[in-house]
Parts: sequence; C-alpha cells; structure tokens
Amino acid sequence: MPTVSIRKGDDVMVIAGKDRGRTGRVVNVRPRERRVMVEGVARATRHQRPTTQNQQGGLMQKELFIDLSNVQVVCKGCGKPTRIGHRIEEGTKVRICRRCEAEL
Ligand SMILES: [Zn+2]
Repeated sequence: MPTVSIRKGDDVMVIAGKDRGRTGRVVNVRPRERRVMVEGVARATRHQRPTTQNQQGGLMQKELFIDLSNVQVVCKGCGKPTRIGHRIEEGTKVRICRRCEAEL
C-alpha cells in the first residue's frame, strides 16, 4: 500500500486548480490513487432521481476526489500551507512542517 502523508482530518489548502486558495478538512483519502476529498472543495451538484431510499430526489451536493499534489497541509504552528517532512522521535515517525518544524 503506498503511503501518503496527508491524513483524514488534516486541514489543507488547495494550491492549484479552480479551487486554488481554498481551505478545508480532509474527509477521505485514497492512497492508491493519490487522491483526497476535501470538505467544501471541488463540489459538484448531482441531479438525483427519486428512488425508494430518497423519495424526493433533487439536487445533491457532493465533493469530488482531487489530486494529492494539488493540496498542501496547513501547519498549525505557522498557519501556512507547507510540505510535510518527517522526523524520528523516540522510535516513531512524526510529521513535521518543513517551514517551522512544528509537529503536525
Ligand atoms: Zn509550520
């Protein structure tokens, strides 16, 4: 399984594409495809027909998966989007901000 350094629950900023500059929380990660789903980013409106589960049908707002390379984690230490570095602390790997070295 390929490892990606972004995790569910991280706050990220979109750095490329039509939603550039937007921030949101990661709600889903697909490491294999290197794609993430971010709350409020790349939202698409789906038109749904009424089904037995959803009697009303109508419009559904749904986020799409976007490419991992288009987002960066926002560091809690310096508040800026950053690349993620790693450091070994007491035998475990921790993620750090490449800018200020704060633990992420
Ligand atoms: Zn930082």
